[in-house]
Amino acid sequence: MFPQIVSRPTLVLCLLAAAPIALSDEIPQTAPAAKSFRIGKLELWSLRDSALIVPNDGSVFGKNTTPAAVAQVLSAAGAPTDKIPLNVDVLMIRIPGHLVLLDAGWGSAGHSVLRQSLASAGVSPDSITDILITHAHSDHVGGLVDEQGHPLFSKAAVRMSSNEWAFMQSQDDTRTLAAAIKNQVRPFEPGAQLLPGITPIALYGHTPGHVGYEIVSEGHKLLDIGDLAHSSIISLAQPNWTIDYDGDKLQGSQKRRAELQQLATTHELMFAPHFPFPGVGHIERSGEGFRFQPQLPSTPH
Ligand SMILES: [Zn+2]
Repeated sequence: MFPQIVSRPTLVLCLLAAAPIALSDEIPQTAPAAKSFRIGKLELWSLRDSALIVPNDGSVFGKNTTPAAVAQVLSAAGAPTDKIPLNVDVLMIRIPGHLVLLDAGWGSAGHSVLRQSLASAGVSPDSITDILITHAHSDHVGGLVDEQGHPLFSKAAVRMSSNEWAFMQSQDDTRTLAAAIKNQVRPFEPGAQLLPGITPIALYGHTPGHVGYEIVSEGHKLLDIGDLAHSSIISLAQPNWTIDYDGDKLQGSQKRRAELQQLATTHELMFAPHFPFPGVGHIERSGEGFRFQPQLPSTPH
């Protein structure tokens, strides 16, 4: 399924610029893709960027349990038990006067195909007006610059929470990137609408300023949950299991359970960058946890 795996030396170089990624992870080649759908009046696209395969060895998933317990959950969902595949996808929204990206993908370190996915949607990087960042891990902000480290979306305002901007500038692996995009960045406080129909929601825990984005049009809603949940199987079936990627593991798991509970109650549509492409669907209750029900709303013509 993932025939081409990057060689170890390449991978080690990638890791220097990718804080949350462990040495044993693999970055497979990804084919570009763009899938469009509607929320009310708004046209949205899910865009493929990259992917990651995480071994089930206790290094990332289920830090407070065992690989055998994780394997049991994977097996019950009919998935392979030794490796956990994750997508890296990006959401795009067209609103009057704006073409908006939610996150910027992984960039060259993650063998990004975002530019090709954008091209297949008929979009050039220069036409992006706003980039709303969920958090400053490399698989979400690495794509803000090109291979030479220059801003790729040179005409876009880059928006992230004030907490996250402070975090990004303080981290060794993102300090250089932060300097490169400094002139584009406009930090915000979560909770107030940023653009018509788009409101950032504080989901702190994964990182100090991690946010989701609620998109609303004509009473229809979709929540981009960012990295509230990584695996569409494990993170939902056992939201209390901690994950190495969460900066604050306790706060991360508590926020995960609370938000999933709310999504299962409201039955609101959600998008998750790391779920199977296109990453859009509903959260449903299942046993003591939850499960992902993929569902793409009507496609524009
Ligand atoms: Zn991520």
